[in-house]
Amino acid sequence: MKTSFNKNQISLGSIYGIPLTFDFSWFLILFFLTWILAASYFPSEYKGWEKVYYWSIGAVTSILFFVSVLLHEVGHAVVAKKYNHNVKKIKLFIFGGISEITEEPKNPKEELFISAAGPAVTFLLAIIFYGLAYLSKGNIYLYALFHYLGLINLILGIFNILPGFPLDGGRILRALIWQKKKDFNKATQTAAGIGRVFGFIVIAFGFWEAMAGYFIDGIWMSFIGWFLESAAFSQIQTGKISKYFEGHIVEDAMSKSYGLVPADTTIAEFIQNDILIKHRRAFIVEEQGKNIGLLTIHDIKKVPQEKWEQTYVTDVMKPLSEIKIVDINHPLEEALKEMNRDGVNQMPVTEDGKIVGMLSRESILSFLTTLNK
Ligand code: ZN
Repeated sequence: MKTSFNKNQISLGSIYGIPLTFDFSWFLILFFLTWILAASYFPSEYKGWEKVYYWSIGAVTSILFFVSVLLHEVGHAVVAKKYNHNVKKIKLFIFGGISEITEEPKNPKEELFISAAGPAVTFLLAIIFYGLAYLSKGNIYLYALFHYLGLINLILGIFNILPGFPLDGGRILRALIWQKKKDFNKATQTAAGIGRVFGFIVIAFGFWEAMAGYFIDGIWMSFIGWFLESAAFSQIQTGKISKYFEGHIVEDAMSKSYGLVPADTTIAEFIQNDILIKHRRAFIVEEQGKNIGLLTIHDIKKVPQEKWEQTYVTDVMKPLSEIKIVDINHPLEEALKEMNRDGVNQMPVTEDGKIVGMLSRESILSFLTTLNK
């Protein structure tokens, strides 16, 4: 197993060709759970153990809990792969796990099976651990270990099939509505709406719990409710924006006029003749009738003023082979998503391999304002 580190994530090899990563927050979770189990849960359920047993059984339980969450995600990922979805990676973070599946499901049946696979694994684990607990009744330590894992997987499974939208239950609900109404966007809106209502109920329940004297539990519950509500709300917003973009391609929002700059232009000439007069932010650099690069104001800012005379646009431009280019017939919403993902403000648009325009955040915005009229 190859392990590597980057910023906040540790990569842990892969399963079925799907990379596994986990966030450093998981160390906190593992430690916290071990501590709760060793200092509070196990001592109150099973009295009179030596301290070292509370802590070692606590630690093993935490690690197996971690494995359980991982297997839940593997369940989603394996079924998604079966339907030929590209699963970028499985990520474990503070709220649990996520399988990063790049595309939306193609039909209700796919969505149903991919969403249900995770909870199915979790419920199966609950049954297995309860079974192991039953079989190890003679050994109190093993019994405590398996019994807790059975219980936690049962709770996790139930939590996951609740109808909150980012939860599996919300997706299962969307699949069922989608199957019935035959409209993905409407199904998303309805499922997210139910998810919001559900989030408010959880918040209210949390407040009631806090009032009743279980302050920490109540606050935690309200926090989960707030998380569910806002996730469902942002899903509704995204859905509204999608509706605007529906049926539109890059051609509708690109600007057909874009700046052309000959390759033998110096930065000083460029600033004087192009930027100041044409009010554009991005230009295509041309050499003997061929487009060779993209030049943005951002690139120019890197050149100190005293070097403007000696520096050519070709020195600071980004070669076309290295930048993101979009086809004129590409769905507009996809193109905007790609711009957001790669953090770029504009993309040259091509038709049959030739540049025919420029898609930028500004051009998309002005397209959207014309739609509203
Ligand atoms: Zn899940």
